[in-house]
Amino acid sequence: MRIYLDNAATTPICAAARAEMIRIMDDVNGNPSSIHAEGRLARTVIEGARKTIANALKASVGEIFFTSCSTEAANMIFEGAVRNLGVKRIISSPIEHHCVLHPLEKHSRNGIEVVYLNVHKNGSIDYEQLETLLSSDDAKALVALMHANNEIGTLNDLDKISSLCRENKAYFFSDTTQTIGHLPIDVEKTKFDFIIGSAHKFYGPKGAGFVYMNADVNIEPLLLGGSQERNMRSGTENIIGIAGMAAALEYTLANMPSFQEKIKNLREYLQFRILSDIPGTYINGYAEHFLPKILSVSFPPSPRNEMLLMNLDINGIAASGGSACSSGVETKSGVLDYIGEPHDRKTVRFSFSHHNTIQELDKVIEVLLKLF
Ligand code: PLP
Repeated sequence: MRIYLDNAATTPICAAARAEMIRIMDDVNGNPSSIHAEGRLARTVIEGARKTIANALKASVGEIFFTSCSTEAANMIFEGAVRNLGVKRIISSPIEHHCVLHPLEKHSRNGIEVVYLNVHKNGSIDYEQLETLLSSDDAKALVALMHANNEIGTLNDLDKISSLCRENKAYFFSDTTQTIGHLPIDVEKTKFDFIIGSAHKFYGPKGAGFVYMNADVNIEPLLLGGSQERNMRSGTENIIGIAGMAAALEYTLANMPSFQEKIKNLREYLQFRILSDIPGTYINGYAEHFLPKILSVSFPPSPRNEMLLMNLDINGIAASGGSACSSGVETKSGVLDYIGEPHDRKTVRFSFSHHNTIQELDKVIEVLLKLF
């Protein structure tokens, strides 16, 4: 039996999403844009999914647009903010996901001022610097700060950032890809202009995502074509993925307290065992607020480090090095570099799901002890 400790990249689609996707494949073959009965049936599936996602976030249905993934949604937001909202300055952090950093590089080349906040070694941002930047410049700003960091799990304080943005009339986009379905997100309580999600992060299918866009903001679409998604995202909808995504979100939210409790215990156990059994290890991004499902462990220098992930894999354990999304080949992580992780050490990111067990973690320790 394989041990899956690379959560979204390895955890199977939940049964609720799988059943819903099979139902759609069997019974709903229409194109949601068609006016015949088959098309209308498909439309009800899409609109039902939109309502589920809107309700989960306390948004209104008109504020949810389906995309292929978070990356597409983030690109849409930056393009729109610059083109339609008069944004001249973007304040972000150097440890955001590539779906934020790479568009920012492009907009910076095109004359938008991009400012990266200082980040402490534990992955938390400098809130004072954010406040100073926001209050000291009149240029229309967009703040782009993620909720949980995907490599080290550090959480940003969204309420605090949101208040600073409101006070200073800046737009706020948070990449909530890691936390949708895992932590409560309520857009009535915390004011955002944009948040984004990808279904596979909450036990849904890969290749389905969405953007929440506050009804007060109005941007043009990234993709032009058939005018689907009320003209915000052209292209025939991925109805199977969208239905699976909504079912998965409903399922994770219904189980959130128990899953979180289980994941927290698993994390504490593995962290305790690794720190006490393997000398010289430490946890990256050990901030006051962190997302329990991500445990980033720094192992001491060793000639075997190069092969560590491969050896874990050979021993039946799927974990990852840096960010899983852009790997395939192991590349150096910008996040770890930024927080000062020495190059001769080796970081392994274990990310948990509620399917993991203490017995699996004992096996991980057993294998690690053989490898060190
Ligand atoms: N943002 C964060 C924080 C992520 O962890 C990921 C993927 O891991 C993404 C964005 C991109 O998601 P996708 O590849 O589904 O677009």
